[in-house]
Amino acid sequence: MNCEIISVGTELLLGDIVNTNAQYLSKRLSDLGIDVYNQTVVGDNLNRLVESLSIASNRADIIITTGGLGPTDDDLTKLGIAKALGVEMILDESSLKKIKGYFNKLNKTMPIINERQAYIPLGSQAVENNNGTAPGIIGEYGKNIYIALPGPPKEMKLMFEESIVPYLRQKSKSNIKSRTIKVIGIGESMIQEKLGDMMINQKNPTVALYAKEGEVHIRITAKEEDIEKADYKIKEVENVILGMFSEDIYGFDGDTLESVVNGLLQKKNKTIAFAESCTGGMISSRYTDIPNASISFLNGVVCYSNEAKINILGVNRETIEKHGAVSMETAEEMAVGIKRISKSDIGISITGIAGPSGGTESKPVGLCYIGLAMDNEVKVYSYIFNGNRAKIRWLASTKALDILRR
Ligand code: ATP
Ligand code: MG
Repeated sequence: MNCEIISVGTELLLGDIVNTNAQYLSKRLSDLGIDVYNQTVVGDNLNRLVESLSIASNRADIIITTGGLGPTDDDLTKLGIAKALGVEMILDESSLKKIKGYFNKLNKTMPIINERQAYIPLGSQAVENNNGTAPGIIGEYGKNIYIALPGPPKEMKLMFEESIVPYLRQKSKSNIKSRTIKVIGIGESMIQEKLGDMMINQKNPTVALYAKEGEVHIRITAKEEDIEKADYKIKEVENVILGMFSEDIYGFDGDTLESVVNGLLQKKNKTIAFAESCTGGMISSRYTDIPNASISFLNGVVCYSNEAKINILGVNRETIEKHGAVSMETAEEMAVGIKRISKSDIGISITGIAGPSGGTESKPVGLCYIGLAMDNEVKVYSYIFNGNRAKIRWLASTKALDILRR
């Protein structure tokens, strides 16, 4: 089954609001294994709405609209659907009761114009709105299914999850299972090249890539009536991918780099502390985003100036004078220093040039040194990251966490 989303609202066309409803629905429909081939945006205009609905009915099985279910003159969606289908609008008594009840609960009487919201195209069913007044609709007409959802995102999401998802699941009769494999340290194009045919020709399960800053997610999706068969198909493909990228895979599904590192340190019963210069606390901030970070995280220090590196971390003044603040030697002493003052098992340091200025020929913008002090040993890794200041800082913090994982 495939679907077209029609977002109704002049404010969308004027650029006054962002079409988050379409984004949300596309994502969720994809989770359900329903292909979205088109998204349409149309203003609050009856003729153009009818035209969009007619076009959609020729190319999509399911048409989902959002917006235009309110009580005012510019709320035309249900009328548009009735017109496109050539059916009448009829009063749905139970919806009217619910709308009146909604106002009663607020100790108000229903304004007369709200009665309009209880009208639905003949042959459709009203869908209860537990978060507002406007009921939605589901209607099956020939080969098409029409679904109308309210515009306010909160109402739209609740109705979609509570009523539409179970309906679509039952209609599509297939189980969708997916598995996400998270890869770090290899670029998207390299991954695509390695996966090759698997991505182009394979239809069930499908393999798709989602590039994130500094990492790539590979998603395998299988569609089967028999859920065990779907699991089996996924496992087969997953095993091939595991073989291809073994060490560069940091996790699956809901894992984050931070949670994986924290889990690993917990298993090894090790504690960690960070000394950050160019990332300005980003590593500590990311690390403490996860619940239970305290299992392994002791503290972080932002030592931005040379004096701070010397006074707080105990870096030698001569080291900085001789090699510079952005150097292997400084990174090494910072890592040893943070481990010592924190009494942690592992010390991570980072010093680099995030730009846009401050680079030289021998030390370009993007150059970062990451120090790792552990078990009486220190290692320093050097990288040159590409991008603007924000991206360089993000990639550097990602790399620091990745080093901890390996
Ligand atoms: P209401 O009863 O509030 O009039 P409605 O179903 O008629 O609801 P609209 O009037 O089309 O919906 O939109 C109401 C509000 O919902 C908009 O002002 C906007 O804030 C939000 N909204 C509508 N469509 C979208 C969309 N596609 N993406 C994000 N927000 C939206
Ligand atoms: Mg409205």
